[in-house]
Amino acid sequence: MELTPSKRSFLSAVLFCLMPSWLLAKVQVVTTTEDLAALAREVGGNLVEVHSIAKGYQDPHFVDAKPSYLLKLKRADLFIQVGLELEVAWAPALLTNARNSKILPGNIGFLDASDGCEILQKVSGSVDRSMGDIHPLGNPHYWLDPSNGGRIAGNIAEKLSALDPKHTEDYKASLKHFESRLSKKEKEWDQAASKLQGIRAVTYHNSWPNFAQYFGIQVVNFIEPKPGVPPSTSHVQALTQQIKNGEIPILLVEPYFDIKLPRKIAQATGAKLLIFPPSVGAEPEIQTYFDLFDHNLRLLLNSLQEPPPQKP
Ligand SMILES: [Zn+2]
Repeated sequence: MELTPSKRSFLSAVLFCLMPSWLLAKVQVVTTTEDLAALAREVGGNLVEVHSIAKGYQDPHFVDAKPSYLLKLKRADLFIQVGLELEVAWAPALLTNARNSKILPGNIGFLDASDGCEILQKVSGSVDRSMGDIHPLGNPHYWLDPSNGGRIAGNIAEKLSALDPKHTEDYKASLKHFESRLSKKEKEWDQAASKLQGIRAVTYHNSWPNFAQYFGIQVVNFIEPKPGVPPSTSHVQALTQQIKNGEIPILLVEPYFDIKLPRKIAQATGAKLLIFPPSVGAEPEIQTYFDLFDHNLRLLLNSLQEPPPQKP
């Protein structure tokens, strides 16, 4: 039977879709966040196809994953999560429903990116609900320290080599290339950060301990009194007073929180309000892990250069 070109391409498309993932040339990677996806692309290059479930403009603690991701997880060779309970509200159920045993915790296709990273704010002793969404294993926003970015990339390279051993040398080379660009960038960022030392800031959520430690910023309080707990009137009043008394010049708000209250606090205190993205993909120009730090440092430095607002 003669097949027309259009039938032939339709047939090959159907066959391609039916192929099990191990036959596809690229390693299929699904990550929970766009930061991990960006790092997986750095290390995997064109040997991997990477999809992130959460978008960079979404709160990674609460993600309504589209059903289409079940299909991607079903076909995935590797699942990468931030861990430390960041995605505990949505990722475990998604993994169970995907029915792909290879990517379940403990198996070859599962990676918790936090292995070997510097984790801050580990809680010892008992944790109860009155403390808010406390993560006893430590603060899960650890990717916001460039040194941890290097460690995550290393974890991903090691895992890709285990899954796809014939390309081990390629993953090693890409990791090396990434590490050398990262260390160059770190020198640039260190120079920028010298102007930020000791700057005091209030942030909406407790997303920034690693970032603050690395860049020498002091986070003194949060608009959320506890992680995941909405601010009460009394907390807002006390915070407003603290900002006025302590001359805290900057309010950092992750892009997925309602801006109304932070704006009010900024107006009442004269603090500068910055929409401060914690993830790749939060803004169209933040495409890579490097872009994320470039963007945020630019925001901070620009805000310091502006004349201080009139005291209300
Ligand atoms: Zn958090």
